Amino acid sequence: MLHVLTREDAVALIKEKTPRFQPKTETIASADCLGRILAADLTAGEDLPAFDRATVDGYAVNAADTFGAGAAIPAQLEVIGEILMGEAAGFSLRRGQCARISTGGMLPPGADAAVMIEHTEQADGLCLVYRSVAPFENVNRRGDDLAAGAIALKKGTRLNSAAIGILAALGIDEVTVFQKPVIAVISTGDELVPGKPAPGQIRDVNTSLLAAAIREAGCEARIYGAVADQRAAIEQAVKACVREADAVLISGGSSAGARDLTVGIIDTLGTAYFHGVAMKPGKPTIFGVIDGKPVFGLPGHPLAAYFVFRLIVSPLLRARMALPPERPLTVGTLAENIPSNHGREEFLCVRLREDRSVVPLHTKSGVISVLSEATGFLRIPRNAEGLAQGTTVEVYAL
Ligand code: AMP
Ligand code: MG
Repeated sequence: MLHVLTREDAVALIKEKTPRFQPKTETIASADCLGRILAADLTAGEDLPAFDRATVDGYAVNAADTFGAGAAIPAQLEVIGEILMGEAAGFSLRRGQCARISTGGMLPPGADAAVMIEHTEQADGLCLVYRSVAPFENVNRRGDDLAAGAIALKKGTRLNSAAIGILAALGIDEVTVFQKPVIAVISTGDELVPGKPAPGQIRDVNTSLLAAAIREAGCEARIYGAVADQRAAIEQAVKACVREADAVLISGGSSAGARDLTVGIIDTLGTAYFHGVAMKPGKPTIFGVIDGKPVFGLPGHPLAAYFVFRLIVSPLLRARMALPPERPLTVGTLAENIPSNHGREEFLCVRLREDRSVVPLHTKSGVISVLSEATGFLRIPRNAEGLAQGTTVEVYAL
């Protein structure tokens, strides 16, 4: 039975019909983990820093020796040596003694603080300290940054440059991450041609657009390419993609016309569960399962295909990588009225101005340049009577 569903029902049905589309993990080299999602909490195996380190250039001291020191009455300490970078001091401080130290240098035994060079003067083997320091002032204590056993990075973290810095600091060279689902892309349409289109022909936008969106979502794209509107050719493409990928996207041919072959093909090779979602753009959207794998029929219009990817396909992909539902990028104030929609949930490209006002970008169906003008998109609920100027709206990133 094929009928039009709300987007929420469609997303729920997709999850229900794809119980095998579950997160899987793999262990990879930290050098290759940029952008991947951590599959387990990552614990510090050692203290960071591993020793007490000075955070200033100056003198390692025993703080008590500086108590009461001031501009008029400096503390006088005996300089017994210098601590070199990358080395443990070969001596300990006794009371009344200090040693030259640089930022990041290891405090010697007997020292519990560092005095900034600017607050000292050196004369005749003595160091005059013009300002007192408290114990552990100007020092990163062992384990201050991360103590051994502490959680350094939480499960679900997208490993960015900052996270990779933490891995390096802890000497972690392998991480367990969620596998990237492989998503195949097939474009259909007699009008799609490689190279320069003749009159009536067009370039294939969806293959590139959807492959990039798949990668942006943290998945791997398997590009099949463009196929003519011929049942046998599309069936062959779908079969190959179902074999090689975890999910398949077929763009074009998803409406209900005689030339629209997608739903029949999905229902022949497997089972089609819905045909039509009450959203705009994106009504001609199909979902089915072939050999246990989710297969989507997306509208041919690139903008519609993009929105269906973001709003119908992407929730499934996020769940597969154990990511929470997408959150809005920001909120803003609607700069003008948006008239009522037609019982369908609507998604509209918007530009966010610097003053946080949100300008809707109205376009005709079939137009794509709006994507490059837009900061993001907003959602108009299915039953809303449009949205009034001045309304606070959530803007999702493009
Ligand atoms: P369809 O869903 O096949 O009826 O296509 C709807 C519209 O999208 C038509 O104007 C198609 O030419 C266009 N279209 C379909 N597939 C693509 C594609 N891969 N790239 C660009 N436009 C497409
Ligand atoms: Mg077509």
